[in-house]
This record gives sequence, structure tokens and C-alpha cells, in this order.
Amino acid sequence: MEGKTFWSFPLFWFKVLIMVFISSAHSGLAPFFFDAFSQEEGLGHGIFHRLGGVSPVPWDSLNVGLAVGDDANLVAENRQRIRRTFSFSALVAAHQVHGDQVAVVKEDPGVDINGVDALVSEVRGIGLMIQQADCQAVLLYDPSRPAVGIAHSGWRGSVANIIGKTVAVMGAEFGSDPAGMLAAVSPSLGPCCGEFVNHRKELPEACQAFQVRPNHFDFWAISRYQLEEAGILAERISIAGLCTVCDSRFFSYRREKNTGRNASVIGLRA
Ligand SMILES: [Zn+2]
Repeated sequence: MEGKTFWSFPLFWFKVLIMVFISSAHSGLAPFFFDAFSQEEGLGHGIFHRLGGVSPVPWDSLNVGLAVGDDANLVAENRQRIRRTFSFSALVAAHQVHGDQVAVVKEDPGVDINGVDALVSEVRGIGLMIQQADCQAVLLYDPSRPAVGIAHSGWRGSVANIIGKTVAVMGAEFGSDPAGMLAAVSPSLGPCCGEFVNHRKELPEACQAFQVRPNHFDFWAISRYQLEEAGILAERISIAGLCTVCDSRFFSYRREKNTGRNASVIGLRA
């Protein structure tokens, strides 16, 4: 009896510790940050993992996508949790269409902005959010204005060079000089999993230089190239280098098909 108590007591507390560890790991939002952006005062940003939300399987749990079959009320709660982590007054998102249109955000429209894949703003207190599952979120920051931008760039966005267009809109709207800007590419489809069997039909000739092995393309390198072409300095570009298909902390369309959308956020704090 004595022996049982001796052994079961610490086992009990060990189990409690494990439970606390698991629940804390699942209750908190755990975004991925870029060091270069974290050092900027007054800037909020993060690429959110799939943990910390309220959506059930297969959108478990921090799904921010409204068009993937999840309950809109649960998506709203997930988005509020993300907004609150930055104390933004609003989190503005787009109803993305894999196009190349850029919206200049001056106020909270109250709904997802239709038909655009990039958002730019110089309004403090408003967070800009891109939703993706394998596509890239490309974050842009001009500390001199200051102003922020974020683009949704899947392979169609890469072909349309939405990155270059978003940098150009920040120049036209805010007078941003690309040479002074910071850029970052979120966790997304890596060269390890970037297989495009129809690439001769889908990808232009210019993409062939980024074919790393038969039918596999490095879209991180394509984005780096496009950022540099847009005038952003190489040393000011950060690539997360995390593949969402390989890393199960993130939603992945290629891995799961029916799944949620990761949130990537940037904004000027109020
Ligand atoms: Zn991979």
C-alpha cells in the first residue's frame, strides 16, 4: 500500500503537469514572427499557426477562412482572438481570388474586401490579414512613412507578380521608397513539395529558371527575385523557409484539401 502511494502520487502530479502543458499549448495563439519585423517599434505582425481557435475538425482550430465550409460565427471568434493579440481596432481581410488587385485600406469596411489579393494601409490601429493554406503571404513595411502592405501570392499571384504591384501601389499611395522597405515571405509551399506536373501549361518561361528538380519549383526564390526586382534590398528580405505541407502546425491545402486557412497579419499599432 505504502509502495503504491509512493509511486502513484508523483505519477498523478506528472499527469497534471502534462495536462497543463498540453492545454496551454492549445489555448494560446502561437504566431511565427520575423526577427527583422519584431525589432520595429509600433509594428504588429505574425503568421499564425492553426492552434488556439474554436473551429472543429477539419478546420481545427484557428481557421480564418470564410469560404471553406466552417461556421461563420466560429471564424469571427477566431479573427477576434487574432485582432485582440495586437489590440487592433479592426482586422481587415480580403475575399481573395488569386488575382493581382491591391486595395488601399483607409477604414474598416466591416466585410472582406471583394476581389483583391493585397492590402496596403498607413492607418494606425488597423491590422491587414491575408488567409492562406500553402500560398504565400508577403509582408511589406515602410518604416519611413510608416506604411504596411500584405499580399496573397500563390502560383497565380507569382505569375501575375502581385508582389511587384503591391510595392508599386505603396510607392504611388504613400510615397514609399522600396530601398527603405522590409519584406518577408510567410511559411508556405516549399521547393520540397512544390510539384507542378502541368507547369508547361501553367507557368511562364520565366519560371523555368526556378525549377529545382523535375516538375518542382522554388516559389520562395521567385518571390525573392520579384521583391528585388521591385527595388527591395536583398538584406532586407526575410524568407521563413518553412514549408506548410511538411509542417503540420499550419493548414495545408495540398496535404489535407478540406482544411482551414492560416492568418498572416501586419499593421501599425495605434
Ligand atoms: Zn515541403
